[in-house]
Amino acid sequence: MTKMNKTDEEWKSMLTDEQYQVTRNHGTERAFTGAYWDNKADGKYLCVCCGEELFSSETKYDSGSGWPSFWEPIDLEHVDTTTDKSFFMTRTEVHCAKCDAHLGHIFPDGPQPTGDRYCINSASLKFKPDTE
Ligand code: FE
Repeated sequence: MTKMNKTDEEWKSMLTDEQYQVTRNHGTERAFTGAYWDNKADGKYLCVCCGEELFSSETKYDSGSGWPSFWEPIDLEHVDTTTDKSFFMTRTEVHCAKCDAHLGHIFPDGPQPTGDRYCINSASLKFKPDTE
């Protein structure tokens, strides 16, 4: 995959403050405040920074967490993970494989068939509804 590299100034000029804090600064939006945690429409969720297709409404579910939750990405090649040891926890961080935007974390308490919960910030996503 071809990486997208931009300077900090370029990202700042493209994104809202909240989108910038989450995606480029590993921030977390407050639960139940984002645009998509309760979105039930059919469509795809793209990376807000680079437009890569990351998640689908087909694998979205209500985890009760207040963040958009998915049991699987559209393509495992579109996301990458790192080990995040901040806040005295060891968590699996997930980011966009193309532009390195921080998306959220993966937890092992998701539904079958994967058992994964991709806990994603709305601020890192742009929803593209399916058109009929
Ligand atoms: Fe991206």
